Amino acid sequence: MLKGVLWILIFLPIALAAQNEARDLAVLCSPDFAGRGYVDDGMKKASSYIASEFEKAGLDQLNGSWFQNFTMRVNTFPGAMTVKSGERVLIPGEDYLVKASSAGIHGSFPLVFVSLDMLQTDSAFDALKAMNLRRSLVVLDTMSFDKEHIDKRYKFIEHNGLRSAGVVIQSKRRLIWTVARNQATYFSLEIKPGALSRKDSILSLDVDAKFVNRFKARNVWGMVKGTEFPDSFLVVTAHYDHLGMMGENTRFPGANDNASGTSMMLDLARYYANHPQKLSMVFIAFAAEEAGLVGSKYYTEHPAFTLDNIRFLLNLDLLGTGQEGITAVNATLFESEFDLLKELNDKGGYLPKVVRRGKAANSDHYWFSEKGVHCFFIYQMGSYDHYHDTGDKPELLPMVGYQNTIKLVEDFFSALQKSN
Ligand SMILES: [Zn+2]
Repeated sequence: MLKGVLWILIFLPIALAAQNEARDLAVLCSPDFAGRGYVDDGMKKASSYIASEFEKAGLDQLNGSWFQNFTMRVNTFPGAMTVKSGERVLIPGEDYLVKASSAGIHGSFPLVFVSLDMLQTDSAFDALKAMNLRRSLVVLDTMSFDKEHIDKRYKFIEHNGLRSAGVVIQSKRRLIWTVARNQATYFSLEIKPGALSRKDSILSLDVDAKFVNRFKARNVWGMVKGTEFPDSFLVVTAHYDHLGMMGENTRFPGANDNASGTSMMLDLARYYANHPQKLSMVFIAFAAEEAGLVGSKYYTEHPAFTLDNIRFLLNLDLLGTGQEGITAVNATLFESEFDLLKELNDKGGYLPKVVRRGKAANSDHYWFSEKGVHCFFIYQMGSYDHYHDTGDKPELLPMVGYQNTIKLVEDFFSALQKSN
């Protein structure tokens, strides 16, 4: 008990202070920004906000603009989103997720439950394939499956090889949403155990999906010009997009992923605007990371200045925890920079640990790495329950390592310029 009280006395003020300082976090997660995705101009509004903060801080534009525009294909869910099992209205985001690539669907459909024995023998599987299921929904109850034996047949049904009206997958897996750049020809739903019972024989669906061929997205950038070597660059990147909306009312706020990193990038931009460095400092907020690192790929194919002039790049993604320190992806590629980061952390006593990790294609640093740019992707570690779900909210984020990660980044950039 005493321990608990002590913990609160010591850490609560720190956590609250961090929350207050990360002032962009709540704004970026607000309903107005619609999950910073593909519905209700969410990404557009978020990018305008970031540009206005760059401007307020006193940054310079690049190529005469705050924005780098590009278009992309994306599947969206801007309208109706109702799933009823009998008379029960299921809760979007909690009971189910529509698969990101799903087509829309409207109507009531009988359910056909696929059991394990239907997949185990050739004759049973042939009988299933011979059924006319065009007006039915096929339910795959993966909890009763021993996957190894039925993997191929499972995949066949999952991809609607049975040509049904749609596929419903019941699984123990956490419901994790994503963004798709294609739209399938059929409806597809992932549903939590217990949300559907065997007694439910009909599912009523009213789901709008809209495929957008040329969705307008934009990266946001700004610069603080270097005092001695303006053509050498230190770069901070963070993706500002998230998953957006699944229907009119279900929003994915994306606090940890990645309003946290975007806030940190903005805080660093404000700091460097007031403390210009020898090298130019560039800040880039990428769009459409969640759709497959789309904005950063576009940037590396159309860079604002030659990528060779980047002395080092730090990509910030998932910076809302920190109880267990940070990990640096690409540490094994850039040993001396990693040693420096670790040494500075020990010296400053900032974070419990700085962990080494190899290459990974898991955030926007990836395309830069592939083009030979020296960079780390930094993310924080520490317990937090939400990832790509509707509960990733700013008020739930621990934000324990936020300020100290900023200090470490500042020390790191200073040290890099000394050795320049
Ligand atoms: Zn992310």
